[in-house]
Amino acid sequence: MYHPNSLKAEEFICHEEVEASLAYADENKDNIPLLRQILEKAKLRKGLDHREASVLLACENEEILQEVYMLAEQIKKDFYGNRIVMFAPLYLSNYCVNGCVYCPYHLKNKHIPRKKLSQEEVRAEVIALQDMGHKRLAIEAGEDPVNNPIEYILECIDTIYSIKHKNGAIRRVNVNIAATTVENYRKLKEAGIGTYILFQETYHKESYEKLHPTGPKHDYAYHTEAMDRAMEGGIDDVGLGVLYGLELYRYEFAALLMHAEHLEAVHGVGPHTISMPRIKHADDIDPSAFDNSISDDIFAKLCALVRISVPYTGMIISTRENQEVRERLLRLGISQISGASRTSVGGYTEEVRPTDTEQFDVSDQRTLDEVVRWLMEKGFIPSFCTACYREGRTGDRFMSLCKSGQIQNCCHPNALMTLKEFLEDYASPETQEIGNALIERELPNIPKEKVRQIAADYIREIKNGKRDFRF
Ligand code: SAM
Repeated sequence: MYHPNSLKAEEFICHEEVEASLAYADENKDNIPLLRQILEKAKLRKGLDHREASVLLACENEEILQEVYMLAEQIKKDFYGNRIVMFAPLYLSNYCVNGCVYCPYHLKNKHIPRKKLSQEEVRAEVIALQDMGHKRLAIEAGEDPVNNPIEYILECIDTIYSIKHKNGAIRRVNVNIAATTVENYRKLKEAGIGTYILFQETYHKESYEKLHPTGPKHDYAYHTEAMDRAMEGGIDDVGLGVLYGLELYRYEFAALLMHAEHLEAVHGVGPHTISMPRIKHADDIDPSAFDNSISDDIFAKLCALVRISVPYTGMIISTRENQEVRERLLRLGISQISGASRTSVGGYTEEVRPTDTEQFDVSDQRTLDEVVRWLMEKGFIPSFCTACYREGRTGDRFMSLCKSGQIQNCCHPNALMTLKEFLEDYASPETQEIGNALIERELPNIPKEKVRQIAADYIREIKNGKRDFRF
């Protein structure tokens, strides 16, 4: 039975409810009055539930879909302005005891070199990332209680936060490691992490068990209930995601929204972010072996519908996607992207991007300077801001900032100030020129006069060598 409030995976991601929602969507996909009614509800910017959103996903009426895309763009602008937050993944270890059939780190892969960074190597990687201009990382590791125990992850987090190289600093570490215990989540919280990210991979239990045939990750309930344990452990920013390509996207989409509804119902706060990964080629993994891959058009439709269904949730796209796809999705709702990523363990300290231990092939291979310049040329403000979490604006406090409309007096100046730091410390002359002009153009868009003045003063001080201002 379907119970959004239940703490049991099979009750809050109820298979029968997903199937019923898909049947309802099929029945109503040409029901124009209902589609219009759902669109009107979406325009209130309070989101849609999984059934409503599923009807729009099934709809193929061009006129309605154009309205969906326009609304997604508008909601994106209303809540996130033209800011795009930048981050990079940092792979700590590819030792893994799981058997995930789509991931090259699976235990049976005997030819992939196994690597685990020492603290010295973590330091070298972080310095390389700081030298590019990164301030926000997502750490990644395979699941291996012997090689990558929680103590190792905590030690790495401490090392990362401790490194102050030139004007560099990593100010927020998000964590993407396997589902763990409440006690371990509490330790991660105490270590000062930002978001805890865990992709569900697939919500379809039967497929999940086949795709994860061996290892601790095989346990569907333990994996699906991880966010509840993370929240019990005090982490209030959690990030969801489905790996598109594994199962039918309509199933995943409905279930993903049910997961968000569950978090809201039980913890009073929905997911902080939703990532949008698609399966990619990697080492011994051939994506064509998975027959549920989705086209770029469907991917864009999904992105727009996530945007209008959960308007306050950040959306993330990685370098799994190429420049063209990223550009299309940025307009439809994405608020965070990675740049200059290396998905191999120890990849940032190598001159040439190594591919031997990559978790997936990187499609967007530009430097951070190039990505930042490209974003600005497309009318976006690349932001290196990490202020919210450092000011304790997490969980429902972040959501109320979003809802109050004060984001423009807070995130906007913070984005401009952190962009200014990037321009001063890391950018090429060409990027500097474009960026400084953009800052001049964007400063007047801060609504409150007092904030506008202070931001302008801070930006002058950054030019004179000061760092790390925030609202
Ligand atoms: N090992 C941890 C776990 O099980 O959650 C950490 C996650 S892993 C380092 C990051 C994510 O990469 C996985 O959750 C999965 O969705 C994704 N991934 C794995 N293989 C992939 C592939 N071939 N293409 C694209 N993404 C992949």
